[in-house]
Amino acid sequence: MIKKILIANRGEIALRIVRACREMGIKSLAVYSEADVQSLHVQLADEAICIGGPRSSDSYLRADRIISAAEIADVDAIHPGYGFLSENAKFAEQCESCNIKFIGPKSKSIRMMGDKAVAKDTVRKAGVITVPGSDGPVDSEAEAVKTARKIGYPVIIKAVAGGGGKGMRIAHNDISFAKEFHVARKEAEKAFGNGSVYIEKYIEKPRHIEFQILADSHGKVLHLGERDCSVQRRHQKLIEESPSPFLTPGLRKKMAKAAIKAAEAAEYQNAGTIEFLVDAKGNYYFIEMNTRIQVEHPVTEEVTGIDLIKQQINIANGEKLSFDQSDIKFEKHAIECRINAEDPARNFIPSPGTISLYYAPGGLGVRVDSHAYSGYSIPPYYDSMIGKLICYGPTRKIALQRSYRALSEYLVRGIKTTIPLHKAIMSDPVFIEGKATTAYMEDFMSRTPTDLF
Ligand code: ADP
Repeated sequence: MIKKILIANRGEIALRIVRACREMGIKSLAVYSEADVQSLHVQLADEAICIGGPRSSDSYLRADRIISAAEIADVDAIHPGYGFLSENAKFAEQCESCNIKFIGPKSKSIRMMGDKAVAKDTVRKAGVITVPGSDGPVDSEAEAVKTARKIGYPVIIKAVAGGGGKGMRIAHNDISFAKEFHVARKEAEKAFGNGSVYIEKYIEKPRHIEFQILADSHGKVLHLGERDCSVQRRHQKLIEESPSPFLTPGLRKKMAKAAIKAAEAAEYQNAGTIEFLVDAKGNYYFIEMNTRIQVEHPVTEEVTGIDLIKQQINIANGEKLSFDQSDIKFEKHAIECRINAEDPARNFIPSPGTISLYYAPGGLGVRVDSHAYSGYSIPPYYDSMIGKLICYGPTRKIALQRSYRALSEYLVRGIKTTIPLHKAIMSDPVFIEGKATTAYMEDFMSRTPTDLF
């Protein structure tokens, strides 16, 4: 039985895990960098150990120090959150070999799904449709151009080790392809230490729709519905909602079935996400699996009433999922806005600094997951997300109205944030009508005066 968990992360997700632990009567241990001494997760966890300097490479990415902290504090399990070491198969293996439970899938599944070319191949063999593209990675320019021509332009060049929207390049013809191919390889090498890339058909104006999966260690695999994450900037999500305003019941059923098949092909255990792109005609294509809890998980929690972090812990404990697919009810609509410390009027430049006043909204149908507070200084070393606003209600219309209302109440002074941008989106007819594709943000920014933000 898990009695104490080390949280190998920071910010709002660390706090989210502390909360689940406390409700379950499990002790929590925060590990933190020197830049995060005043962070809420450090203050609210039962215990805290400093593991190094401000840079992630000196702290949150130091598997050796995290495992030492786990051994010193005698924990039974490590929750990796998202980002940092959460999809690092070697780290999961190290935990396994030190007899510490890694709250996530087995290292084998992480490895299989972490290489996007292998992931696509694995699910394709299981009968799941993937984006047309190269058979695995392509190394030489000559071979790559041939493949791109065969697929048909436009194509997208993607890093096999990719993540966070990095290392992706679009090419419209042979000339731009030759240039982008080398840029993509270089970028991938720099960002992931692995320059290997593969090629896919570039789907024009798709929707990004993903399915939440829960799988226990006894062979039960369930889905918790979808999240529409089409509102993105530079391939990074800004707004997520469930259910998707685009899916018909028939398409939802087909995609959910495909998602379960993909998870089974990965021999998956714990919480995971199967991501698809869906074109205007309703053709859907698997793009990747994320083998961890996602930033946007609260949307699913509010729609289904299921606590995903608690489920993750129970599954790591070897417990059976206590419900079946037919027990999962989808009765609400939820929308999440990611609140970033960035200035949308100045090309989203990061805006670290001290928050002079912080007041989070509340009231019916409003949830805020954030580690921010009045007087908190945002360190410049990490991701700029300072919180997530999740608003929900019986219909999409009410979730939208609530989001606008809550954003109007959300006060963050002293730094720039994306709150005014979200407010403008919540009152934009295209978004209100549920018509946003992944091309939405570019169009929205081009037709909206920046003085609105
Ligand atoms: P990452 O792991 O870096 O997040 P993904 O493969 O999940 O990369 O893709 C992120 C986003 O990039 C997608 O949601 C979509 O907007 C865009 N994208 C990826 N592949 C394609 C494609 N083949 N065609 C069009 N857009 C794509």
